[in-house]
Amino acid sequence: MRKTDAVPAIARAMIQWFAREARDLPWRRTSDPYAIWVSEVMLQQTQVAAVIPYWERWLAALPTVRALAEAPLEQVLKLWEGLGYYSRARNLQRAAQLIQERYGGVFPQTRAEVLDLPGVGPYTAGAVCSLAFNQPEPILDGNIIRVLTRLFAWEGNPKAAPLQERLWAMARQLVATAAATRAHPRPCNALNQSLMELGALVCTPRNPRCAACPVQSFCLAKKQGRAEELPTPTAKAKITAREHVVFLFHQRGKYWVRQRPGEKVVNAGLWEFPSVELEVAGPAARHLAIQSALPTAAPVAELGKVTHHITRYRHVFAVCRADTAPSAAIQSAGGGWHSIAQIEALALAGAHRKIARRFLVDKPG
Ligand code: SF4
Repeated sequence: MRKTDAVPAIARAMIQWFAREARDLPWRRTSDPYAIWVSEVMLQQTQVAAVIPYWERWLAALPTVRALAEAPLEQVLKLWEGLGYYSRARNLQRAAQLIQERYGGVFPQTRAEVLDLPGVGPYTAGAVCSLAFNQPEPILDGNIIRVLTRLFAWEGNPKAAPLQERLWAMARQLVATAAATRAHPRPCNALNQSLMELGALVCTPRNPRCAACPVQSFCLAKKQGRAEELPTPTAKAKITAREHVVFLFHQRGKYWVRQRPGEKVVNAGLWEFPSVELEVAGPAARHLAIQSALPTAAPVAELGKVTHHITRYRHVFAVCRADTAPSAAIQSAGGGWHSIAQIEALALAGAHRKIARRFLVDKPG
């Protein structure tokens, strides 16, 4: 049997399996494109279990495109706090404002229109169109890449052009085949979700549960005994360490925090404690940075270190506390005194939220 001859049987088996085995996730109970879009954007870098409370809070606070379009950015960032990659939250709001302007708040229904929204790539456009509108639009994420490369024993870098094109073509063929079946009332939705679900629950990176797999009889990697060798591993990005000193300036139960600029910087618009990145890591540079941040020779306590990973960087923050006002240079960069309760209500950058939870002490003086 040629590989493509198996496509209708694979599509049918996947849809039937999904109808039996799918997890009951909150965004699967709706066909509202706005709610599905938000879930897909949240799921891009975060596990399902962690996304659920974020998604529920977001939908309760901003239940419609219009509510998101009109919300203060501060509220949007606060609802996103902890999910990281804040450009995603900003793009969600920009896209909502565009949907308001262009389509009167009604979510666009064609792939080209969805793809034209800020922050939307081929995956998200395919997900919204297939999951919300049951259109035969393909999607390809890490889970689906794993399932398809194993099913057809495709080798090579899945992010490089030749294999990418092959994978998209197969994803397209599968969803188009599903659309032509009567295996499900919403077959395109079910087929795309079934591929993601199989990758998440059964065709896992290690120890895939091939005995429980609905398409095991078609799977070439299983037949060849090399499921775990696929997809072909690609070179991992080298991790770069960066060191910072963070200052908890404290007076009368309040701490000095400042807001990052609103555009074109990492964590734009989020709040943080004053900090300095060291050009050269080590105690001497740290000592120099501490001295230059203090207005006088004020006593300073080195509280400990916090590590925070972002993409290929490992940031190490040496946290210092000084019961004094910041230097004039730091003050001129903006900011002000805030109580712990006020800081809790702000949208704080991820590393700084870790620092706040670990080191802020609610004491006067
Ligand atoms: Fe993945 Fe195994 Fe199923 Fe093949 S048989 S698709 S390797 S779980």
